[in-house]
Amino acid sequence: MTGSRDTYGGYRTRLVEQLRAQGIRDLAVLRAFAATPRHLFVPEAVRHRAYEDAALPIGAGQTISQPFTQARYLETLGLKGNERVLEIGTGSGYQTALLAALAEQVFTIERVRSLAETAQAALRAAGVTNVSVLVGDGTLGWSAYAPYHAILVAAGGPELPPPLVQQLAPDGRMIIPLGTKGKQVLSLVRVTPMGAHVTPIGDARFVPLVGEHGFDA
Ligand code: SAH
Repeated sequence: MTGSRDTYGGYRTRLVEQLRAQGIRDLAVLRAFAATPRHLFVPEAVRHRAYEDAALPIGAGQTISQPFTQARYLETLGLKGNERVLEIGTGSGYQTALLAALAEQVFTIERVRSLAETAQAALRAAGVTNVSVLVGDGTLGWSAYAPYHAILVAAGGPELPPPLVQQLAPDGRMIIPLGTKGKQVLSLVRVTPMGAHVTPIGDARFVPLVGEHGFDA
């Protein structure tokens, strides 16, 4: 996936070691980080910082999330490799690429067209082929390919968007930061016969989820 002219391999190995030292144990997740060229997903201006365990600006007022946060997210989803996954908030496309390494097929929605286009180009450059990108309001989901075994929302919303609950498979898992624009609780959602069951799994600080079932633009 990373090509023969990959000069970032050593940095990537160090990032994986940092994630392991911080408690990430899932081997499939660590392998996905080892195989995914984050430098292809960040703007030229911050490329030298691509393998820092830090959030970085990607344009349009948005950020690529911190790798440790993404690793925790991915560990919680517990993907086995055969799932259909929906991602809301493509951003740079980096997390999309990680999901693509961990699942069978990834459907991802981004509301900012320029970001979606840049992400698509980066995914192509990274050799990722099992991803479909849609420009639109992710709080409405993507009903054409539902149900999804896992849904990952990479922006913080005020409430659980009902369409996403409807599009989650019966044994599926959704992760979504819920709260205010400045501060959220990372929440794990499972659908049971009694309805959606929400488990808080930690504090989070994500950019706002903007849309019909999110915040106003
Ligand atoms: N995981 C991404 C970072 C995402 S930042 C990465 O690895 O780079 C959150 C993204 O969610 C932003 O790009 C923002 O534009 C997008 N977003 C916010 N509300 C959205 C919505 N309703 N539908 C789709 N995308 C949305």
